[in-house]
Order: sequence, then C-alpha cells, then structure tokens
Amino acid sequence: MFLPVGQGAFYCERFKCSCSDRTMNFVYDCGVLLRDCGSPDVKLKWLENVIDSVFREGETIDAVFISHLHEDHISGLRHLARRCSIRKIYLPSLDQESRLLMLLNYVTKNLKSTNCNNDGMDDLTGQVLASDDLSGNLQRQLNADAQVIPVREHGDSNEGAKGLELRGSGLFKENVEGLFSDWKYKLFCIKDDNAVRKVRTDLLAVARKYLDGKVDGDFPEVVAELVRRVCNHDNTHRQDIVDEICKVYQDTIGGAHFNTHSLVVYSGCDNSNGALNVKMCCPLFVTCLPNGCINLPPYRSPYCFPYSSNKVGCLYTGDFNAKDYWSDLHDSNCKKEWNTIGCVQIPHHGSNGSYHDDFLEMEAWHVISAGLGNKYKHPSLGVLERYYNGKKPFPIVVTQEPRSIAGWHIYPKKHG
Ligand SMILES: [Zn+2]
Ligand SMILES: [Zn+2]
Repeated sequence: MFLPVGQGAFYCERFKCSCSDRTMNFVYDCGVLLRDCGSPDVKLKWLENVIDSVFREGETIDAVFISHLHEDHISGLRHLARRCSIRKIYLPSLDQESRLLMLLNYVTKNLKSTNCNNDGMDDLTGQVLASDDLSGNLQRQLNADAQVIPVREHGDSNEGAKGLELRGSGLFKENVEGLFSDWKYKLFCIKDDNAVRKVRTDLLAVARKYLDGKVDGDFPEVVAELVRRVCNHDNTHRQDIVDEICKVYQDTIGGAHFNTHSLVVYSGCDNSNGALNVKMCCPLFVTCLPNGCINLPPYRSPYCFPYSSNKVGCLYTGDFNAKDYWSDLHDSNCKKEWNTIGCVQIPHHGSNGSYHDDFLEMEAWHVISAGLGNKYKHPSLGVLERYYNGKKPFPIVVTQEPRSIAGWHIYPKKHG
C-alpha cells in the first residue's frame, strides 16, 4: 500500500496468515516533509492520523525499512514506535564522510529556511546523524525495543557487503504457508560517490574562506568543523557560511537534498507458481504538472481493478540515484528478480536527476510519492514527458489527497 501522506513516503505490506489471526506487517519509510509549505504541526498530525488508520494500538510491525534519514522518510517513526511494537528496523549504514555531509546539508538547509533560528539538531534526523553510532542514536530517540540493523553499502568488503536477503524464519516469526512461503525481501544500498565528489571541491573552497587555515585535516574533519561553525550561534559569519554551503549543495548536486545512500528494497517471490490474482485499487489517478496537480479523467481507474499476473513483486527505491547507478540496481542486485517486479516506486519523488530512461521499459505499475504544491515541483515535468513521449501510461502519483492511495491485494487463484 502506498499511503497518501504528501511530500514524503510511507508504504506498508501486510501478510495475512491462514494459520492464525496474526498478520505480519512491513513498513518502508514513514515520513513527510515538515518544513515545506504549511504548518509542520498540521502535517505531522496528518501523518500520525494516517499511521493510526493503518495500525491498531499495540500492533506488531515485523520490520521497518528506512531508505535514508531524511525527514520526509522518517518523521513519523517516533509516532509509529509509540503506537506499535516494532521488531526490527533496517537502515543504511553511513560512513563518517557521508554522515557529516548529510548533517551539514541538513543543518544549513534548516538554518536557511528559518533564518538561522533552528538548525534542526533536535529533530529526529539531526539527532540520529549527530554521531557515528546511527543505530544506537535511533534506538535512543525512538525509545523502542526494536533491534536496529545497519545495512552495509554495496562494494564494502566487510560482511554483508552484497546486501541482505531476508526470507523464511529470518523474515517471518511465524510460519506462513502456501503463497508466501517463498516470499523474500532483498535489501541493498549503494554509496553515491558521485554526489560526494561533486560537493567536496566546493565545500573545501568555502572552508578555506572561513575556517582560518583549518583545512589541512582530512575532509570529514573539515566538514565536522563546518557543522560546528554553523551550529554556533555566536559565529559572526554564520549567515554567510550557511548561504554559501546551501549554494554548494544546490549547484553541485542540482537540488537541496543530499542523498548519499538510499536503501533499496525488493519485496516478492522468486517463483509464484504461475499467475496469481491481483486486485489493484487506486480510487484516483493524480498527475502533477508544474502549476498544480490534476486528476486526468482518461486515466481515472475504477476503484478496484482485478487482473491475473505472476509479477507480484515490488521495488521500493526511496531517494535512490537511479540515473547514475542504474546498472547497480538492474544488473548487480535485482537481475534475478527483475521480471517479477509488478510495481516500482519511481525514486526521489519523481525527480529528473534520479530518473533513468530504462524505467520506461518496466512493465509494471509506476508509483511516485509527491506532495500537492511541493516546492521542488516533484514529480519533474521532464520525467512525465518521457512517459508521454514514450506513449507509456503516466505513473500513479500518490499525494496527501486521501483518494490517491494505491494498493494491491494479492491472493491465490481458487482451485476448480
Ligand atoms: Zn532524501
Ligand atoms: Zn525524499
């Protein structure tokens, strides 16, 4: 289910077990952008209402997968952890450099949008990124018993380098018979080295200007010093440094958000034993254009649309940079599963900078999460034009409009 929270992401999967009353729940991201347009409190309340409508008080969530630590992907986690009992939380492990670059991006973006009043260090993102112990920080912040498991980046020579594959008892606490017995989750994360390279030179130039020669240390130390300077209220050049750093991120990576790692999750089964019944439910097709979002009558779907398919897997991409790392996604990590993907989240709210043309060739439902009236103009017109020019159906855009919710119900074919 792709839930209607606006500029953010909140997706959940629920397995009903034939052998007991217990359902198994999996969540991918749980957040909405708070400091966009409108009141942060209202948006958080809205997100919390959506969480409450999906999960009962005290319900168990078997695993939460966090794509990355940006507010629009995690701001609902505190409420989710209060309301539900979360067993496991998976998040990308960040090296020190990536953590500090994300933190610097986060605090400067907040300081700029609040005219240097609030650096965001008290928010969940700021608190988790505050030190290298991301798992411990998150556990403390959520005050939950959940086991927090970092997923190492692809290419890391340490254990777990090739991502994680969860299935069977590692995935389900209870036995699941029949249809879902070979269901699995495949998790992997790839460091966006391109993004790091792009900001490095320009950040060093800013550091040279403001850090009085303290740029001889290694790069993470320079970034840490920049974080200290911008978080120091007494720093006279604070506003100038903030402006220049924001400009570096904006100019070099072509956007305000620095996404070095985004955990990609494949959910599905290798062998569905032939076609399954699927019911696709999407009350409203929404398409967003730069001047606003509309629902297009020709594409309006019936409330529920049944069909039969053996492509019942789903690929969740968070804010993954598919443009630069397509082969890691397609060739290295999901080759075997590719033809079972019946639904794909188009990454980074449909931004042009993260889109790869080969998405167009995927015969699957394409879903984008983007808030109505978001200031980033997501989804990008360039992305939508590709669908139009390629004569492909537009992606489903899930917004904060309740009827834009999109869900799939998968069930076995009845015998006889
Ligand atoms: Zn992000
Ligand atoms: Zn995002």
